[in-house]
Amino acid sequence: MTRASLPLEFAPRLIEWQRRAGRSGLPWQHTRDPYRVWLSEVMLQQTQVGTVLSYFPRFLERFPDVKALAQALPDDVMAMWSGLGYYSRARNLHRCAQVVMSEHAGVFPETAAVLQTLPGIGASTAAAIAAFCHGERVSILDGNVRRVLSRLLAFEGDLAQAGPQRELWNIAQALLPVAPSPDDMTAYTQGLMDLGATVCQRSRPACAICPVQSLCRAHAAGEVQRFPVKTRRLVRRFERWWLLVLRTPPTSGSARVWLERRPAPGIWAGLYCPPVFAAEDALLGVLPEGLRAAVHALPTVTHSLTHRELHLHPMLLEVPPGSFEPSADHAQWVAADALGGHGLPTPVRLLLASLV
Ligand code: SF4
Repeated sequence: MTRASLPLEFAPRLIEWQRRAGRSGLPWQHTRDPYRVWLSEVMLQQTQVGTVLSYFPRFLERFPDVKALAQALPDDVMAMWSGLGYYSRARNLHRCAQVVMSEHAGVFPETAAVLQTLPGIGASTAAAIAAFCHGERVSILDGNVRRVLSRLLAFEGDLAQAGPQRELWNIAQALLPVAPSPDDMTAYTQGLMDLGATVCQRSRPACAICPVQSLCRAHAAGEVQRFPVKTRRLVRRFERWWLLVLRTPPTSGSARVWLERRPAPGIWAGLYCPPVFAAEDALLGVLPEGLRAAVHALPTVTHSLTHRELHLHPMLLEVPPGSFEPSADHAQWVAADALGGHGLPTPVRLLLASLV
């Protein structure tokens, strides 16, 4: 696609619409502080705005700047991230803060090209930080923006393939406003995000109120739902886990549960979880014979991850303090009122909340 064939009215129209009708009250807007922009961008990857709204201020209160985050213990970072999911984001966030401190004297690099070299910062996140904080003329291209642009242009390339992805990125760059001020770049970048999140949504795009409807080729062809073209569909692997939920009786004070820190790499790496087994027999096999009959199966919990569907089978066993502990590294008894200070995967947090 040549530049001449692109709808060059797109950028000015998007900027005008964002200033008039886009989102303006989000707590990470109206700042050029890279720490805040970076944190919000990472939280917003794969997480709804409504959820991020409650996590963002809490995280900032606990780790107000990049230095505080770099110096934090990994367990404290995971605990503050607990419930947001996609925990590699939290591990990369922590590592990135440490690299900014050790290799960039505590100051985020200014350009998207250098920002991309930091842990966990991909091309789109780097572009968002550079555009919002320094007015760099560079385009974001996350999943929402890919959807908007592929509909706008009726882009036939298969976005499951690297070649068409690159082509769309070049188009995104060509669509940028001409000679923008830093404020223009902020409005344009925010406008792309707002259009994808609030108007050009995946299943029910609100074309009737879309500010770029008259430029949109998919809409003109009546083929909005055909875009983006993506041949490879996500296939989730089915996996079953048996969880040994050891609990002390709540007779004296609060009950305690036995939790292990999950190994890295792997699912829920760095988070705390009851011991996991691949089969019921394996779980029963670690118990002294006299305790096996006391194990009580709880209802199965289903939990979807990006590439897997987990079926969790919690097996509850009440044991008096000191009577039995599975041998394990990084494991401990945790009192019910201390669970909030531990990073717990959402299904585990919900399960334990119902038990202790
Ligand atoms: Fe998306 Fe519809 Fe707007 Fe086209 S007209 S960009 S499909 S909302």
